[in-house]
Amino acid sequence: MKEKEPISVSRHLEFDQVNRELLAFLDASPTSFHAVASMGDMLEAAGCTRLEEGQPWSLEPGRGYYVTRNGSALIAFRIPQKDFLGFQIMASHSDSPAFKVKANGEMEVDRHYLKLNVERYGGMLCAPWMDRPLSVAGRIVVSTRDGVAVRLVKIDRDLLVIPNLAIHMNREVNDGYKYNAQKDMLPLMGCVEDGGDAAGAPGYLYRLVAEEAGVAPEEILDADLFLYNRMKGTVLGMNREFVCSARLDDLQCAFASLKGFLAAEPAESVAVHCVLDNEEVGSVTRQGAASTFLRDVLHRINRAMGRGEEEYLTALASSFMVSADNAHSVHPNHTDKADPTSRPYMNGGIVIKYSANQKYTTDAVSGAVFRTICSRAAVPFQVFTNRSDMLGGSTLGNISGTQVALGTVDIGLPQLAMHSPYETAGAKDTAYLVEAARVLFSTAVRGDRDGSWQVIG
Ligand code: ZN
Repeated sequence: MKEKEPISVSRHLEFDQVNRELLAFLDASPTSFHAVASMGDMLEAAGCTRLEEGQPWSLEPGRGYYVTRNGSALIAFRIPQKDFLGFQIMASHSDSPAFKVKANGEMEVDRHYLKLNVERYGGMLCAPWMDRPLSVAGRIVVSTRDGVAVRLVKIDRDLLVIPNLAIHMNREVNDGYKYNAQKDMLPLMGCVEDGGDAAGAPGYLYRLVAEEAGVAPEEILDADLFLYNRMKGTVLGMNREFVCSARLDDLQCAFASLKGFLAAEPAESVAVHCVLDNEEVGSVTRQGAASTFLRDVLHRINRAMGRGEEEYLTALASSFMVSADNAHSVHPNHTDKADPTSRPYMNGGIVIKYSANQKYTTDAVSGAVFRTICSRAAVPFQVFTNRSDMLGGSTLGNISGTQVALGTVDIGLPQLAMHSPYETAGAKDTAYLVEAARVLFSTAVRGDRDGSWQVIG
């Protein structure tokens, strides 16, 4: 195993530039559909070719491709120049907890107000969704001459607010409050004239959305619409140490993975940038980590390169996956919530996550391989474990392993306020992960004997 000369961090990492691009990406990506569209634009700008699952694939060595499923999950890959060894994968997720507008989503109150009937998607912090400008984004499905077609929509103006109840009407609220999603969390959208819309007519929301999409309201057959936070992301702190935005979990990792993928040099293995949907609701969907999406794509790459099942299974043994989903930093007001010895801090580098019950896939072998990659990238890393008396969260690595079983490490970037609509992370850590991803995708891991790994590149 030949050690590469470590790359100087200062030479390769431009924190301000990375944060500007990250914030622009987050602003353009209020839903998983928009995140996938944003990534598709970046991939096409870099010369990658879009593939469709519904059409045959013919792949050429040295070229980059991407494919989407449901418009909300995306896998990009680059084929090496010569016959490949395995797959180097970084997997993250495109979704974040949010409120979804229900079918029949309009409610009149006292024949005066119009509010939206919404339900929870995932497990969010409820309180920070209140008393701030919100709007609506997602996709609509319109009727066409020969069927239906999807259009993305983002109403790009302050449209809604979820007003708190005044303290005078709930004096005990500051002593702890149980939010009722059906009662407390419905956003106010306007005032209506007596009677409102006639039954069966397209509602107010569909009219706004139709205008945005440039279609007639009657053409909208169905929709997946979510509330999103209008507050723009920013870099703050006395030395600009922190980046704050909606959806850092997990678009910060998805963005870093893609930037690393685009910057990588050709390697012996297929580089695979994988962003799956529905992690926040358990991953058991057609485009989630429990689905066949990743497995199908790897199979098709293998077959398109003229290889058989034996070569596919051999390749899996020489493959490595980084499951990248954000991690909890030590909280300055709640230092006791962190483990006594593993205490990740924002700007301290990439967090390697461990869990004895394997909610995180990291074991000594995959941890060691990832530490080797971080060392070659010359980026700092730190360690997360839950307190032994606390249950932690879960993520997509172990779920994906039920479909494609390969050596996997769970990592993330340290952040605060996870699942708030405005989260806080370190201003340096995105660039660290970009660089680690670049090295991962420029590397191959040879595992031709069980328990013995060579890190090549
Ligand atoms: Zn996450």
